[in-house]
Amino acid sequence: QSKADGKGRVTFFEPGMDEAFQTRRGIEESLRASLRDDTFHVVYQPQVDVEGNVPAVEALLRWKHPELGEISPSVFIPLAEECGLIMPIGEFVMRRVFEETGRWCNLRVAINVSAVQMRTPGYATQVMQLAARTGIDPSRYEIELTETALLGDGPATAENFEILRRLGFSIVLDDFGTGYSSLSLLHRFHVDKIKIDRTFVHGLGESGEVNALVTAIVKLAKSFNLGVIAEGVETEEQLRELTLAGYSMFQGFLTGMPQPAGEIAARYEPAATMRLQA
Ligand code: C2E
Ligand code: MG
Ligand code: MG
Ligand code: MG
Repeated sequence: QSKADGKGRVTFFEPGMDEAFQTRRGIEESLRASLRDDTFHVVYQPQVDVEGNVPAVEALLRWKHPELGEISPSVFIPLAEECGLIMPIGEFVMRRVFEETGRWCNLRVAINVSAVQMRTPGYATQVMQLAARTGIDPSRYEIELTETALLGDGPATAENFEILRRLGFSIVLDDFGTGYSSLSLLHRFHVDKIKIDRTFVHGLGESGEVNALVTAIVKLAKSFNLGVIAEGVETEEQLRELTLAGYSMFQGFLTGMPQPAGEIAARYEPAATMRLQA
C-alpha cells in the first residue's frame, strides 16, 4: 500500500510498521547514504595523566543526520549493528583514523570496535590489511572492546582477539564493571587496560559503596598489572576523588573535549604538523 503525503511524495507502509520503525528505517537509509557520500567524521578526546600530559586520545565517530542533526553513536551504532552496516562503518572509522593519525609520534590512539565486528570471521585480517596499506604501527593503537564484544560465542571472537594482539594492538576493556562477567573476562582474555565506566565516576560521593567499588577496581587493575583509566570525568571533585583512590589517567569533559584531528595535532603533535606543512 502507499499513499501520497500531500507534498506529492509517496510513503510506503505496511501493517505494524509504526512510527518508531519508520524512523529507524529512515536512519538506516541515511547511514547508507552517508557512507556513500563520506559525511561521517572522527573526533579525538584527550586522555590526561596526573601531571596534565596527554599521552593518548580516543577516536569517537560523529554523524550528522540531514534532518535530525547530530546523532550520538550510542544511538546509531546499535542500529548499524542490526542492519548490517557496522562492518563498512567500522572500516571507515579505522581507515580514517589510520590516515589522520598514522604520522603522529607522541599520541597513542584508541579506537572503539563493536561486538559484531569482533564476531565476524576474518575481521582481524581486514584490520591487518588496512594497517599494512596505511603503513601504521599497530603498537601505537588501542582497541576498545566492551564486555559484550568479548562474550560473543563462536570461535571468531577469540580468533580475532588473538590476531589483533599478535599484530601488536593493545586491548582495552571499555565500560568496565557494567556487565555481568567483568572479572571472568579478565581471566579469559589477556587485556592491557581497563576503563572504568563513567556511571561509577558519576556516582562518586553519592554513596560509600560506589566509592568502594571505584577503589576496588583500581586495586584490581594494579594487582593484575593492567593499565587503568577513568572516563566521564566532569568535575574537579571527581578528579580529586579518583586521584585519591589511585587513578592516574583520566578522560572527560573536564580534562578535554573531543576535537578534530587537526586541532589535536596542532596542540600535541607539533613535529607531525610541521612535516605536513613542509
Ligand atoms: P565510549 O567508548 O564509552 O566513549 C565515551 C563516550 O563518553 C563518548 O560518547 C564521549 O563523547 C563521552 N564522554 C566523554 N567525556 C564525557 C564526560 O565527561 N561526560 C559524559 N557524560 N560523557 C563523556 P560518544 O562519542 O557519544 O560515544 C558513545 C559510545 O558510542 C562510545 O562509548 C562507544 O561505545 C560508541 N562509539 C563511538 N565511536 C565509535 C566507533 O567509531 N565505533 C564503535 N563501534 N563504537 C563507537
Ligand atoms: Mg570507548
Ligand atoms: Mg566507555
Ligand atoms: Mg560506553
